[in-house]
Amino acid sequence: MTSTKITTTKVIAKKTKPATDQLEFGRHFTDHMFVMDYHTDKGWYDPRIVPYQAITLDPAAMVYHYGQTVFEGLKAYVTETNDVHLFRPEQNVKRLNRSNERMCIPEIDEELALRALKELVKLEKEWIPNAPGTSLYIRPFVIATEPYLGVAPSKQYKFVIILSPVGAYYKEGINPVKIAVENKYIRAIKGGTGEAKTAGNYAGSLIAQEKVSDAGYAQVLWLDGLEKKYIEEVGSMNVFFKINGEVITPALNGSILPGVTRNSVIQLLKHWNIPVKEEKIALEDIKIAYKNGSLEEAFGAGTAAVISPIGEFACEDETIVINNHQTGDLAKRLYDTLTGIQYGKIKDPFDWIV
Ligand code: PMP
Repeated sequence: MTSTKITTTKVIAKKTKPATDQLEFGRHFTDHMFVMDYHTDKGWYDPRIVPYQAITLDPAAMVYHYGQTVFEGLKAYVTETNDVHLFRPEQNVKRLNRSNERMCIPEIDEELALRALKELVKLEKEWIPNAPGTSLYIRPFVIATEPYLGVAPSKQYKFVIILSPVGAYYKEGINPVKIAVENKYIRAIKGGTGEAKTAGNYAGSLIAQEKVSDAGYAQVLWLDGLEKKYIEEVGSMNVFFKINGEVITPALNGSILPGVTRNSVIQLLKHWNIPVKEEKIALEDIKIAYKNGSLEEAFGAGTAAVISPIGEFACEDETIVINNHQTGDLAKRLYDTLTGIQYGKIKDPFDWIV
């Protein structure tokens, strides 16, 4: 597979690029996309970069019915010296294959996927916005395309990569958000699909988000599906707490998505000799830490926001206010360091940048 050549068909007329101040998340798409097909008789075949276009599928295509699909999300950043940086892209390709395995989708050659990603981003370099905080969001995904209504793994798939220039997540500077603890709905359960980046997890979470956004909450805090006692994730981010000088994050337990940002935060904390542990965290223990004054910070970690400080958790019976609704020093340091590495402003001691 390693020598498989990716063919390129370029557009005749390029699109007009959106102005920087019009950029939002996932609204505009570049001129080209990557596509590769799969058939059980042939394996993955015909990797190609083609003009960005609609995908026409048979109405019986299995993805429409049983949701056999996976996706990834990462970003390309342009530096002050006009270099293009990808942040740990091999981690996203690995996670894509772990999601594939869970959803009975055939494995994709990781070298080829990474090369496809790099070639596409290189071709679309002029689409990467360069205003502070902006980037090019990369969305690889796989869909089951076989026209068949039986509940079984599809025999045909498409692997596609599309690119979207995105605006800065924090337009008015990094700011703590309010989070509502979700007591009714659950995101995932051990043995389910929570560890995979698959559409159903996100479709199933919409209702909880809808319920709280009108009340001014940015995201929900997901609890475990069995006892609704233990903290799992915050919206589509992993979550960290700083209690008494020590950082803790829920251990990967089979229902939490293993975030690339989460892993990077843990590595950075270890590098700085700040104590960090991954373990089961009861919501009750966070309430206790709040009451005895040892809860210093809380923040989410994910590709979109990088670090999102949390100023408040609304629980059924009480509200936990953190650091007086101010961004904590550790959240700020992590944010500055991670974005500094991503945009090439500070040295990358981990060889994360590609
Ligand atoms: N949890 C969920 C449910 C997510 O969708 C994401 C975003 N991929 C994350 C956590 C954070 O993962 P990452 O740091 O790789 O973006």
